[in-house]
Amino acid sequence: MQGLRSPTLRFLGAAGTVTGSRTLLDTGDSRILVDCGMFQGHKRLRLMNWEPFPIDPKSIDAVLLTHAHLDHCGYLPRLVKLGFEGPIYCTEGTRRLTEVVLKDSGHLQEEQAAHANRRGYSKHDPALPLYTREDADRCDPLFETIDFNTPIDLGNGVETSFAGAGHILGAASISVEVDHIRVVFSGDLGRPTHPLLLPPAEIGHADTAVTESTYGDEEHHDVDHEAGIAEAIGAAFDRGGMALIPAFAVDRTEVVLWHLDRLVADGRLPDVPVFVDSPMANRALDVYQDVVAASSPEIRPEIRGKRLFGSLRLTETRTVDESKELNDRSGPMIIISASGMATGGRIIHHLVHRIGDARNVVILVGYQAPGTRGDRLAKGERHIKMLGAYHQVRAGIRRVELSTHADRSELLDWIGTSSPLPGTVYVNHGEPAASQALVDGLHARFDLTAIAPTKGELVRLDL
Ligand SMILES: [Zn+2]
Repeated sequence: MQGLRSPTLRFLGAAGTVTGSRTLLDTGDSRILVDCGMFQGHKRLRLMNWEPFPIDPKSIDAVLLTHAHLDHCGYLPRLVKLGFEGPIYCTEGTRRLTEVVLKDSGHLQEEQAAHANRRGYSKHDPALPLYTREDADRCDPLFETIDFNTPIDLGNGVETSFAGAGHILGAASISVEVDHIRVVFSGDLGRPTHPLLLPPAEIGHADTAVTESTYGDEEHHDVDHEAGIAEAIGAAFDRGGMALIPAFAVDRTEVVLWHLDRLVADGRLPDVPVFVDSPMANRALDVYQDVVAASSPEIRPEIRGKRLFGSLRLTETRTVDESKELNDRSGPMIIISASGMATGGRIIHHLVHRIGDARNVVILVGYQAPGTRGDRLAKGERHIKMLGAYHQVRAGIRRVELSTHADRSELLDWIGTSSPLPGTVYVNHGEPAASQALVDGLHARFDLTAIAPTKGELVRLDL
């Protein structure tokens, strides 16, 4: 009866889009879900979070989690709410960051539902959160922490191993071996230039690979980010102004602080107060400090065991009152706050307070999705709506792209580290043009079977 129990992959998300990463490996005896991400962005995508889950969550034996970004872990509380009760395997860094991220997400969704109910703009009456903070708490006992590069037996003849992906703290590429077939999932791949993390590990050997393609059609141009940051901030200080940096709470804040720390240590920036004003960023910062101090093997050897950001006069503001007190401060200083695309969070209040002053500078350090405030600022719009009113943009706006995603060449190079090359590469986690560009690149460079699967598509692994 060959064929009936062939191991299969089923692409339940991140097909034709960069969010909602979920791939099901079904061996016939075990169902393993690799990543359990939330769909984000346009409403069409967000509504997919409300679709019935395509299989019974109770029938999933385990979740393997590549890393703590919401588009990879953000559906977990919903899956648990729907009946999943198996283990969630991940690295220590991922577990700690995921707990921070999921609780924040549950809290945010409760707030959004409450807001919609107050204003009466939801189609559902009452508006419901996808999950609550309490639902997020229910994931905690399910996490099983595993070490990098240490094979784990999942039972029923399935073995898994996590290798560093160099993307954010804890991030892994995951290999799963069943019936002598080795499938490797890239997760999100980082860049060899990450200041804290080692570059992505080589594949070793994959019969089948599933790779992300966020930047499948783009090359990063390596420029001197530190020079750009120093010049922008220095000029603002010379004018008597301050610097405001919207940054993603997990990872980007750490990378920004890393560069600031070096600039101050080298005397290229004056030793001014630096405020991290984001509760989630501060919790993530604690995790980074701990993992670096514990000398995790994913951390660059030269900083293992060290205390990070020792050159900075760093203040972490936690309470709303502490955040508001920053409004009364003047003089040279740097405020880093979330969210990174200025779509919400405390950065909005700082922008309202500071953006009308031509002495100040706003530095955008990450990807700015089309239509977000960050994108409009980057495009030079002079009036930005925040908290219900328009505010004139007089502050300088600068872009310094600190990407933590591999570019096209780096993705192709990573596939090339498999020896022998994979028979098939499934390209997901990208906008359609980016995925197709990587598919074309894989064909041209390696002459292997490369496909961008469609959502819901099922493929056999044994042929
Ligand atoms: Zn990611």
